[in-house]
Amino acid sequence: MERMEINNGDITRLEVDAIVNAANSTLLGGGGVDGAIHRAAGPELLEECRQLDGCPTGEARLTKGYRLPAKWVIHAVGPVWNGGQGKEAEKLASAYRSSLEIARNHRMKSIAFPNISTGIYGYPKEQAAIVAIRTVRKFLAENEWPEKVIFAIFDQENLTIYREILEGY
Ligand code: ADP
Repeated sequence: MERMEINNGDITRLEVDAIVNAANSTLLGGGGVDGAIHRAAGPELLEECRQLDGCPTGEARLTKGYRLPAKWVIHAVGPVWNGGQGKEAEKLASAYRSSLEIARNHRMKSIAFPNISTGIYGYPKEQAAIVAIRTVRKFLAENEWPEKVIFAIFDQENLTIYREILEGY
């Protein structure tokens, strides 16, 4: 079974156990996919996030999904791109790994990631994709859960990059 797949669409519509949010370290909402997730989940999501007291870069936190089709939201904080000299790749890998650990520890079958850090945070898309895919592939090789990881890809540039790496065209 192929355990990684691409979904070319809106992450807030996916019927999976968990969607990952590309959050900022306050966990109090922002633009991009974060804004879309909070709008779709409803105000209860922000209420729960307020209780969490933030999240450091490279880590992740779990909340319920409220009005989303997904049962859970995993809020992962990726790095702001700063030219590559600030351990961005390590921090990005850690954000993916932390999210996968939460999914595994809760025996989640399916989890969907946005392209963390490649929007407002400015991480070069191809470099981010290589880190994301390498980290997920290694985690899946070493763990039984989650069974399936979906890359929810919103923009054409990321779609082309992920298709090239995962599907060879
Ligand atoms: P960051 O601050 O981590 O860069 P952004 O939300 O700005 O986060 O961007 C992360 C990625 O999420 C970008 O590739 C952006 O195109 C994508 N994105 C924005 N809205 C959605 C959505 N509804 N579903 C999936 N991906 C989305």
